[in-house]
Amino acid sequence: MNENIVFREHTMTLIPLRGLAIFPYMVLHFDVGREKSINALEEAMVSEQLIFLTSQKEAEIDIPTVDDFYHVGTICKIKQMLKLPGDTIRVLVEGVSRARLREVIQEEPYFKAVLEEVEYLEEAEPDKETEALMRSVMDAFEEYVNVGSKVTPEILLTISDIEEPDRFCDTVAANMNLKPKQKQDILEIFDPKERLERLYEILLEEIEILEIEKNINMRVKKQVNRLQKEYYLREQLKAIQKELGEDEEALDEIDEYKERLVKMKIPKEIKEKIEKEIKRLTSMSSSSAEAAVIRNYVDTFFSLPWDKETKDKLEIKDAQKILDEDHFGLEKVKERILEYLSIRKLAKSMKGPILCFVGPPGVGKTSIAKSIARAMNRKFVRVSLGGVRDEAEIRGHRRTYVGAIPGRIINAIKEVKSKNPVFLFDEIDKMASDFRGDPASAMLEVLDPEQNKEFTDHYMEIPFDLSKVLFITTANSLSTIPGPLRDRMEIIELSGYTEMEKLEIAKRHLLPKQIKEHSLAEGFVKIPDKTMLDIINYYTRESGVRTLERTLGKLCRKAAKSYVENPKLNMVKVTSANLEKYLGKHRYSYQMVAEKPQVGIVTGLAWTAVGGETLSIEVALMAGSGKLVLTGQLGDVMKESAQAGLSFIRSKAKELKIDDEFHKNMDIHIHIPEGAIPKDGPSAGITMATAVISALTGVPARSDVAMTGEITLRGRVLEIGGLKEKALAAHRAGIKTVLIPKENEKDIDEIPHNVRRALKIIPVETMDEVLENILTAEDDKEDKNEN
Ligand code: ADP
Repeated sequence: MNENIVFREHTMTLIPLRGLAIFPYMVLHFDVGREKSINALEEAMVSEQLIFLTSQKEAEIDIPTVDDFYHVGTICKIKQMLKLPGDTIRVLVEGVSRARLREVIQEEPYFKAVLEEVEYLEEAEPDKETEALMRSVMDAFEEYVNVGSKVTPEILLTISDIEEPDRFCDTVAANMNLKPKQKQDILEIFDPKERLERLYEILLEEIEILEIEKNINMRVKKQVNRLQKEYYLREQLKAIQKELGEDEEALDEIDEYKERLVKMKIPKEIKEKIEKEIKRLTSMSSSSAEAAVIRNYVDTFFSLPWDKETKDKLEIKDAQKILDEDHFGLEKVKERILEYLSIRKLAKSMKGPILCFVGPPGVGKTSIAKSIARAMNRKFVRVSLGGVRDEAEIRGHRRTYVGAIPGRIINAIKEVKSKNPVFLFDEIDKMASDFRGDPASAMLEVLDPEQNKEFTDHYMEIPFDLSKVLFITTANSLSTIPGPLRDRMEIIELSGYTEMEKLEIAKRHLLPKQIKEHSLAEGFVKIPDKTMLDIINYYTRESGVRTLERTLGKLCRKAAKSYVENPKLNMVKVTSANLEKYLGKHRYSYQMVAEKPQVGIVTGLAWTAVGGETLSIEVALMAGSGKLVLTGQLGDVMKESAQAGLSFIRSKAKELKIDDEFHKNMDIHIHIPEGAIPKDGPSAGITMATAVISALTGVPARSDVAMTGEITLRGRVLEIGGLKEKALAAHRAGIKTVLIPKENEKDIDEIPHNVRRALKIIPVETMDEVLENILTAEDDKEDKNEN
């Protein structure tokens, strides 16, 4: 036994505590309720206010006996007592010193015992081992505090100041969260070194436990955190997607896009560009406007026939058969087409020129292009350029424009689903250009085989190969096709049809087609030739057969109606007698020419976009001041032409036996009826001059003679265009003689034989010759003129 330890004897009241142990220097309050304990307290209070507190071995025991509590405890000073409601007293005590029980000398009404209080004598030299132990305990306690015990770190300062090993031990133990057994262990060891060792041991154990606890805590916390975070994020994502109206469908769609893209055989750059767009789509709400724009774009991309084309069939014999099947006549045109196809067959890679069909409406330009597609086994697509004045219509709008769409070309390609169709540009002569750019230059690029391999639509932003497309164009007139475009095309002219040709076309093609379209039995509508000619002459006035086809359609509708009303009917025969019943009154009068020669009325011939026309030019004279009035929607060129004619007449007034003052005292009014149709061009020059001369001289002009030709100031007759159409129109109108410029003699060959035979065509060079042929020599006036 350590000789520095001594024990002093005391007699003192005793209280066994439940689940509590008190160390010296420790302040503690606890509640006392057991009667025996209260008695002990009261006794202590009347003496030195000291009391011996020891722990019960088992807290549950209510009435403990001597063996039920530990025999080492702490002598405490009672600092305060507080009576609580009920029979409980709250006591505040401070530990003074440890003591061991020698014997219990009284059990009732409270425990009284003889104790041995421990006392440590001051050591002369501090023991190095003790010092070292204290430091170890201090370090361990520090770690204990830091590792997460619930001890406040401030206590470390207080403890580090304590030098007495005993007090040091008590204070450290008092500040730890120890089990009652551990506390009792520390209390019961009296040797300071042994005590320190035991405390150190306990500390290490506790630290380890705390560390494990901490690890577990962290792990659990981490897990909980992760789960919580994930759950939270997932919920948030759901909420966001819901808010954005996103659904599985949108994601499926994106996957589908990706899949399709992988399978496509297209250049890498294009793939990458589309991939990028699809990626952008992934990162945005499917219902946003921007996503809609991108989706549209991607859809357009996928709907283009990047790698789809039809296999060409280039058997010239078959092609000829198909062309003949679909169209009557047009021999020259068919021949040119077959030549063109042969060249393509010979040199597949050779880019032939672009075909351009020129002619009035309804002469079969579109339908012959369709036949070409059929003959080559290609798909057919048609785009009208009429009225296109904006380059963007051809080439599309950039996607930065709201509501941008691809241009007409890409749209048509998308529709036709083949990259090598026969592509018809209708009315290429009707393109206009203005501040929005020149569509013609865009067309140049499209039609140029060098450039159209990489045709880039503004909307698509990626090149599409148009080089396999067979382009065909149509126009009503050559003169308005922009020059550079015209140079690139091989012009094939289709002129109007004669009455007889129309009859054949109607019989062989139009009527059967209409019967079929109206779901009638073959041959259900019968129209004899004579009636068909009546239809042609009284219900249509055109170069082509469009109105004729429409009129036949109307007849078929009526026939279908009759059939529905009377299913027993097996045929409808249309005759000249019942024609009016079906089609109403005649729309045009056949005999346009006046019966008798008339003064101041001359028949001219015009050539408009819709074909040839006869024009009845009228002149009236009035007393006046020499004004020239022109009416009937005449263009500037026509007005100038009238002026030129007038100047010629003035210069020749004497020869023509006209009062040379006529330009001073007379107003001249030239009128060309059917004012609704705009007329222009110089080819009515000689007609207007003749009508004025007839009016001024009073000599009637023959009504069965028509004429066409430009006039010069000297009275020369100059070349005009569209002779064939004009001749057809004259023939239709029942004209017998046609005066044409001598320079146009070369075109006479183009006029169909039957028309040439029926017409007397007289080429003329001067106005004298014109007048000779038209101003009649039948009556007195004529005689007078000749004199
Ligand atoms: P365009 O394109 O010149 O205006 P379309 O090709 O539209 O004329 O022709 C109008 C209609 O007349 C079409 O139904 C077409 O089949 C028919 N047609 C024109 N010419 C002939 C022809 N020579 N033989 C048969 N049908 C024709």
